[in-house]
Amino acid sequence: MARPRKSRKISNPPKMKGFKPYGMLMCKVEPVVLKFEEYESIRLVNYDRLSQEKAAEQMNVSRPTFTRIYNKALKQIAKSFVEGKAIEIEGGNYQLEKDWYRCKKCYKLIEGLESHFKCKDCNAYGQNELIKLN
Ligand SMILES: [Zn+2]
Repeated sequence: MARPRKSRKISNPPKMKGFKPYGMLMCKVEPVVLKFEEYESIRLVNYDRLSQEKAAEQMNVSRPTFTRIYNKALKQIAKSFVEGKAIEIEGGNYQLEKDWYRCKKCYKLIEGLESHFKCKDCNAYGQNELIKLN
């Protein structure tokens, strides 16, 4: 039996559900899955310019675990890029710092309990129209 893995701390979920390449037919292509913590590792190192050391600290994982997550993220992105596959950002073993929801209608991210019943940017109203991300 695998030992239970500690969940990785994530401060912001991705804005989008994924990416699609254009200029090719997508119907037959299996998407590549990028887990939430893999997305976060790219965000911290390549967008926020943190060292892997600092990024590991922020995600509450050891440095070797971080490197493994980060390398997997690069591998998935490269696979998508080279093979022309879509990326689906989903799942993983993570813990969000706040309550985050996604509107099913417009995919907007909604932060916090106070705003979780209404999406300001469209007509969605009520819990049924929101997906909880935590
Ligand atoms: Zn909405």
